[in-house]
Amino acid sequence: MTSSITSCLALQRAIRPIARTALLVGAMVTTASALASQQTAPVAIAIHGGAGTLSAADLTDDLKAAYLGKMTEALRTGHNLLLSGGSSVDAVVATVEVLEQSPLFNAGIGAVMTFDGKHELDASLMSGADLQAGAVSGVTSVASPIRLAHAVMLQSPHVMLAGPGAEGFARSIGMPAVDNTSFTTPQRAEQLQRAKVRMNARMNARTDARTDLEQLLPPHKWGTVGAVALDRDGNLAAATSTGGMTAKRWGRIGDSPIIGAGTFADNRSCAVSATGHGEYFIRYNVAADICARVRYRQVTIGEAAHQVLFDELLPAGGTGGVIVIDPRGDIVMPFNTPGMYRGAIDTDGSLQLGIFSDSDPQH
Ligand code: ASP
Repeated sequence: MTSSITSCLALQRAIRPIARTALLVGAMVTTASALASQQTAPVAIAIHGGAGTLSAADLTDDLKAAYLGKMTEALRTGHNLLLSGGSSVDAVVATVEVLEQSPLFNAGIGAVMTFDGKHELDASLMSGADLQAGAVSGVTSVASPIRLAHAVMLQSPHVMLAGPGAEGFARSIGMPAVDNTSFTTPQRAEQLQRAKVRMNARMNARTDARTDLEQLLPPHKWGTVGAVALDRDGNLAAATSTGGMTAKRWGRIGDSPIIGAGTFADNRSCAVSATGHGEYFIRYNVAADICARVRYRQVTIGEAAHQVLFDELLPAGGTGGVIVIDPRGDIVMPFNTPGMYRGAIDTDGSLQLGIFSDSDPQH
């Protein structure tokens, strides 16, 4: 296997039979895929389901199995598309849509709630072949924000649409409105209440406005989703979708819908989807910086991603992770948090999944 994909042997030992079955099935399907990919140009795909802090106690075996099962389904959706000759753009959109429709992740159904108890969704995608891109931010009534971002790229003269304007565009191309409450899950409602209690306590001890704003943001939680892929034509693509941060207000927008910050793809270097504390990822232009290092400094995607996450972001206080793929189909999925939901099917067709770090016994 040429890809430097994080090993998940320990994870396989730790998970319940249901997830083991999923992995085994994956391995069997892989054999056929592997044969096919030897005869044609390679395809590969990677996903993330958010980076952050999570204690093992919060992640029961059943929940872990549910995450691994859904990530497998998402990977297979995109990979099957790639195997049948589909484009990397279509593959990342279809893959991200599977994750948006799952209440497990902070995107679409299951998105985190704003301070006012609503959902404001952000998404973006980019095509590495021609540097076309589409993005939406602060949408409240679109079932699949990544589909809308795709439509912005294909059917509008613009790159990024926001709020009511983006909704109006969605209606104009026949995307029906869904109720904002259709994204709500009991877990996210509880998470908001807990965040508000914490925020109130901190407000009372406020010292200066800027530090306060940092403090007010709840500890970073999991769930933003993303995908990167290489198709048979050698084209790269990246896509990211999120509900943003719990208890966000004032129309806050993170890095996920910002081309260059949360999403970037360029066939001359790599494709990146990010997850993490968006304010840092915007200021450090994370996704584009990784690709620029690959293109101009001629370093590997592993070196570039490590430099940006650990040498630039971390000293500044920025936490999160990225998934990166290059034109050979090599994949890296580094993070500077205790874990990141992640998975990939490499050019050999083998599927791997991970949650905590490789060296972590919880992995
Ligand atoms: N990057 C997202 C944001 O800041 C959040 C995340 O990745 O979890 O909106």
